[in-house]
Amino acid sequence: METGQPRALLEPPPPPPPRALNCNGYAPEKQPPPLPPPALKSRCAQGSRGAQPLDSWKEERTRSEEDNELHLPSLAAAYTTILRALGEDPERQGLLKTPWRAATAMQFFTKGYQETITDVLNDAIFDEDHDEMVIVKDIDTFSLCEHHLVPFVGKVHIGYLPNKRVLGLSKLARIVEIYSRRLQVQERLTKQIAVAITEALQPAGVGVVIEATHMCMVMRGVQKMNSKTVTSTMLGVFREDPKTREEFLTLIRS
Ligand SMILES: [Zn+2]
Repeated sequence: METGQPRALLEPPPPPPPRALNCNGYAPEKQPPPLPPPALKSRCAQGSRGAQPLDSWKEERTRSEEDNELHLPSLAAAYTTILRALGEDPERQGLLKTPWRAATAMQFFTKGYQETITDVLNDAIFDEDHDEMVIVKDIDTFSLCEHHLVPFVGKVHIGYLPNKRVLGLSKLARIVEIYSRRLQVQERLTKQIAVAITEALQPAGVGVVIEATHMCMVMRGVQKMNSKTVTSTMLGVFREDPKTREEFLTLIRS
């Protein structure tokens, strides 16, 4: 009889346990963090245009404060693993609290996942007949490159041409904050900000320019201290009308 258990003979040995996941001694969480999207082929600041679907500002928040609390122990344990793997002794005095500090800091650096653009826009959109370009420039941004988990920092310049609706000025900086406090590539960050403003205000056009320094370029690899990466997204008349675009670019340079 071959129908009994013929497969048992062919069955491969059980796969080794996933070391990376369970070697820290912590039981898996009931709700594992959401899986990352497939890795981009591009490197930092050279993202593949259009390869990644744009997150709409109407998206749900992917993390809550309860999630932070729930995941803090496993995040800290992961940092302990990192310290050990780096050849450090996580038990030495200076490092005793480091995994917890690092875990808390990382949750802060990525707190944009806890917020949505909708939260920010509540009560901040005003009907206004203003039809001149609105520009807010030099908005500081601190983000984490999603390829190396190291910071990139810089300035964001935003301009839009209203179409009967304007946004409270401080809200532009809040939009920048929400998207930059996530794992990012600079191109996507630029586009997300422009798309959020477009969807919220339906203006005649939007321009977003980001100039940033990537620590993954400065501290490793090419080590170009002063290199800056500039990205821009132009939508509506900013894209279609060279004069409008020029006006915007001139104003943010002045
Ligand atoms: Zn990087």
